[in-house]
Amino acid sequence: PLVLGIETSCDETGVGIVRGTTLLADAVASSVDDHARFGGVVPEIASRAHLEAMVPTVERALKEAGIAASDLDGIAVTAGPGLAGALLVGVSAAKAYAYALGKPLYGVNHLASHICVDQLEHGPLPEPTMALLVSGGHSSLLLAPDITCDVRPLGATIDDAAGEAFDKVARVLGLGFPGGPVIDRYARDGDPEAIRFPRGLTGPRDAPLDFSFSGLKTAVARWVEARRRAGEPVPVADVAASFQEAVTDVLTRKAVRACKEQGVDHLMIGGGVAANSRLRALAQERCDAAGITLRVPRPKLCTDNGAMVAALGAEMVARNRPASGLDLPADSSLPVTETHIPGHAHA
Ligand code: ATP
Ligand code: MG
Ligand code: FE
Repeated sequence: PLVLGIETSCDETGVGIVRGTTLLADAVASSVDDHARFGGVVPEIASRAHLEAMVPTVERALKEAGIAASDLDGIAVTAGPGLAGALLVGVSAAKAYAYALGKPLYGVNHLASHICVDQLEHGPLPEPTMALLVSGGHSSLLLAPDITCDVRPLGATIDDAAGEAFDKVARVLGLGFPGGPVIDRYARDGDPEAIRFPRGLTGPRDAPLDFSFSGLKTAVARWVEARRRAGEPVPVADVAASFQEAVTDVLTRKAVRACKEQGVDHLMIGGGVAANSRLRALAQERCDAAGITLRVPRPKLCTDNGAMVAALGAEMVARNRPASGLDLPADSSLPVTETHIPGHAHA
């Protein structure tokens, strides 16, 4: 099936087009620079930027794919979770295109889309797939027996998301926003064993598949402050590398553990933090040791984009899942177990 996907859950206006598991177009307009001076995403700015970027981005994607809108088999859109106002722009646009073109509409889950996108990179997902989803808003271990209708949360962060920790530590170090890519870059020149930062929730009595990153963030902030108070220079590369090591050590350890517990031999890692070079390397090392096949999409498909939404939409069409109604809501707290929002059946 030929499907167009629209993503507006945060600060990226993404429009992607896929044919089944083949990527045809991936157009992204980001408002990230407009938020940088505020140190985080400002919802009202994101909504307005989506509104301005929507039609040009759809047109760019159609042109890139070399198809006409009338060729489409469906329109998919992120229905949640995400910023309410931002989601509403995408959902409204998707409804308008679906109605005007007479195509079925599929309101899908953003987190399931982050997993499904790997089909565009490595072909059909094995069933079940274990997924480690790590982004600015989420850090979860998910078991996906069927990405279109059955996704089960096994563990999640009890405080900050992994990406949030990267962003906050970057702020402490004065490296700007978003923090992930810049910490990744600095860490390359640093010693990951220079400072032993805490590994959250890895004690014998802790929930084995949950995460906690706020203690780590605080530990880094305290360490840096102590240095500054003492009038000593802050070894930014070493702090970045040591912090990054603590995050990726816990993430990969628990992901491999989840696979072993569930008897699953495939792990996919998705979400913006999956772009992290150390996470990719350490996951590969530990999966190899455990006999697990690792699947991580290229970085551009890990951060928010429309192709991932189109990928899940195409799977919905392929598996004959019911379409959404034109009364599709945007649900800012859509649970991960709701992979899509089907419409009410009409008699
Ligand atoms: P959601 O959580 O709803 O999916 P989001 O916009 O935070 O929304 P993404 O675009 O998937 O989701 O991820 C953005 C996050 O990924 C940011 O916190 C950013 O710092 C982090 N990130 C991006 N690149 C890297 C990297 N190389 N290393 C670590 N973190 C990274
Ligand atoms: Mg983003
Ligand atoms: Fe995301």
